[in-house]
Amino acid sequence: MTDDAMLPTGAWDTHVHIFAPSTHPYASTRSYSPLEAPLPALLAHSRSISATDSPTNLVLVQPSPYGRENSLLVEALASLNSDPALSSVRARGIAVVDSGSATAESLQVLHDSGVRGLRINLESSVNARYSTDELKTVIADSAAAISFLPGWVLQLFIKSTLWDDLLPFVMTLRVPIIADHLGGLLGASKSPVVDSANPLSQPGYASLVRLAREGRVYIKVSGLYRASNARPGFEDLEPIISALARDAPDQLLYASDWPHTGEAKDRLKRSSDAPEAFQVIDDRLVIANLRKWVAPVVWQKMCVDNPARLFSN
Ligand SMILES: [Zn+2]
Repeated sequence: MTDDAMLPTGAWDTHVHIFAPSTHPYASTRSYSPLEAPLPALLAHSRSISATDSPTNLVLVQPSPYGRENSLLVEALASLNSDPALSSVRARGIAVVDSGSATAESLQVLHDSGVRGLRINLESSVNARYSTDELKTVIADSAAAISFLPGWVLQLFIKSTLWDDLLPFVMTLRVPIIADHLGGLLGASKSPVVDSANPLSQPGYASLVRLAREGRVYIKVSGLYRASNARPGFEDLEPIISALARDAPDQLLYASDWPHTGEAKDRLKRSSDAPEAFQVIDDRLVIANLRKWVAPVVWQKMCVDNPARLFSN
């Protein structure tokens, strides 16, 4: 495999998960039950897409099956950040807490373990439905809860259409927002609403780019299978990702979204405790395509410089 299909030296993979139900049971409120994807498997994956011999820097994101129980995440961060064999790897985390009841003390404990933000996920569960006003309240409460923590972010997984409603509100926030998975933008293969000749006209694009250009929002270039049905290379996303690279090069973050969990729509007819396999994604093909779609300087920014600005503190 050539370097075209690899992440450069110093890269960050800003959105990965680990699952270990045999030792860390899922929350009873979960909407799905993924198979095992333990830390050693994550490290093997990370080595497989790294141009160096070692794994990339990593941001572990609390996945919804664990609810607000962040112990597996915290244990993994501790082991990554203390293992001398992984001294070149920096590991950070994005946790999920109840912003109403989380104490400053409990958030400080998370910070000390390497957590640098909170996740608000409206898309993994079909049951998680908020009105825009409720969402604003959750975001405002979360932003207030973490305001004393240096370098913390809020990570939102929402539909792109919400950015139009959220634009003035997000402008007033004092913490940066990370928009998961292309900010919910969709390729024409995924949505009949998206005009294949002009995918940038879709709702949310202009607002998302405006927020990015103002430095308020970082956009994760990740989980392309959530935005496109054009497997395996997701080519219908090229015009969107090329435009984001041109319009907001300093606000993009690469992520593999390993181990590629399924989607809420596929869970409607399945019980929440039925084991769910991961999607089979050719990460190196995705990387090779991204490198074709963005300028080399932007690739370096989205893999190395932009995430380092957020997560190396
Ligand atoms: Zn994910």
